[in-house]
Amino acid sequence: MSQPNRRQTKLEPWQDPNEEPYVRIEGVTKKFGDFTAVDDISLNIYRGELFALLGGSGCGKTTLLRMLAGFEQPTEGRIYIDSVDMSEIPPYERPVNMMFQSYALFPHMTVEQNVGFGLRQDRVPGPELRHRVDEALELVKLGHLKRRKPHQLSGGQRQRVALARSLVKRPKLLLLDEPLAALDRKLREETQFELVNIQEQVGITFVMVTHDQEEAMTMSTRIAVMDAGWLVQLGTPAEIYEYPRSKFVAEFIGQVNLFEGLVVEDQADHVLIQSEATGSDLHISHAGSVPVGTRVWVAVRPEKMALSLEPPGVEQNVARGTVDEIAYLGNLSIYLVRLESGTIVRVTSPNLTRVTEMPITWEDNVYITWPNYAGVVITQ
Ligand code: ATP
Repeated sequence: MSQPNRRQTKLEPWQDPNEEPYVRIEGVTKKFGDFTAVDDISLNIYRGELFALLGGSGCGKTTLLRMLAGFEQPTEGRIYIDSVDMSEIPPYERPVNMMFQSYALFPHMTVEQNVGFGLRQDRVPGPELRHRVDEALELVKLGHLKRRKPHQLSGGQRQRVALARSLVKRPKLLLLDEPLAALDRKLREETQFELVNIQEQVGITFVMVTHDQEEAMTMSTRIAVMDAGWLVQLGTPAEIYEYPRSKFVAEFIGQVNLFEGLVVEDQADHVLIQSEATGSDLHISHAGSVPVGTRVWVAVRPEKMALSLEPPGVEQNVARGTVDEIAYLGNLSIYLVRLESGTIVRVTSPNLTRVTEMPITWEDNVYITWPNYAGVVITQ
C-alpha cells in the first residue's frame, strides 16, 4: 500500500494544544425521520489539512460534508468554521466551496467560461476575472485547453476544470465529494498526487469524502473512518493502518490477519495471547494493558509476516500450515496458507528474486513468523 506522500513539517497542528481548529464539529447528529445518518460526531479539522471522511456506502460521510457546506442542517450539535457558529449561516455566506462528484460543468461553456462562472456572478471586474481564471487554469495545467468545451476533454481534464472552478473563488475550505471517482485507476493515481501538490501550493483546507481507503491513505493528513453514522477512528494514515482500534477498521483499511485468543500474561512491556488459531502463543511488545483472561483478536498485516520451509526455531509468533494459493502480482506475491486449525493466513512477500527461483510452492508445508512488534491487540 502506498504511504502518505506528504512532507513532514514541524509539530502537526492536531498535536499542538495552542492551535485553534479551523473546523469544529461538536456533537453533530443528523436524522432523516427516524433514521440517524450521522450519530453524535465530534472532530476538529485544522488549517491546511487534507482531511478524509472515509467509509462504506451509506455510512453518513456525504451527509456530514453537506452539513459543512450548509446544504443540510444538523438535527443536534454545532459546526464552527473559523470560530463562527454556522447554525444560522446559509451555504452562500460560508467560506466554503464544494466540488461535486459529477463535476457539474456547463456543457455549452468553454473551460475558461466554466472556471470564471462564479466570479462573473459575483461581478468581479473583467481584468481581475481573467487574471484569476488564468491563474487557476495554470495551477491545474489546463491553460492550453481553455477554449475547449467539456465534451472535448478527458475525464481527468474535466476533473481539473472542476477543481479550478472551485479554487478560483479562493474559498478557505474546499469540500470534495469523491473527487476522483470518475477516473480510471491509473489516472486516479496520477491525479491523487496532483491534487495533493495543488492543495499544498494553495494552502486551502480540503475535506474530502471517499470510500476508497487507498485514496484516503495516500492523500490525507488525517482520516476519519465512519461506520453506520459513527466516527469509529480518527488518525493519520499511518496510525490507522498500524494501530486499528477495532476489527472493523483493521479489515476496512488494507488486508489483515485476525487471530482470536485469550490474554494469559499482561506485563509492562508486552502481552502474551494464547491462540487456538495459530497453536503458538502470540507475543506483542507494544500493547497497552489488557487484563489476563480477556478474549481479544490479534491483527497482523500480511507484509509483516515471513514464510520459511525450515522450522524457524522460535516458539512464539509462529504458525504452521500448507500453501493453498499463490497469487503472483509482479512486484509481490500473495500466499494463502491454511493452518492446522483451518484458519487461512495471508502473507505477502516482495518478489526480490525472479519468480522461477521462488523456493515455496503449492502444497508446501511452511512456517509463518512475525516480529513481536508486528501484532496489534484489538478488543472490539
Ligand atoms: P455513499 O458513498 O453511498 O454516497 P454516504 O456515506 O455518503 O454513502 P450518505 O449520503 O451520507 O452516505 O447517507 C447516509 C444515510 O442517510 C444513507 O442510508 C442514506 O440513504 C440516508 N440519507 C441521506 N440523505 C437522505 C435524505 N435526504 N433523506 C432520507 N435519507 C437520507
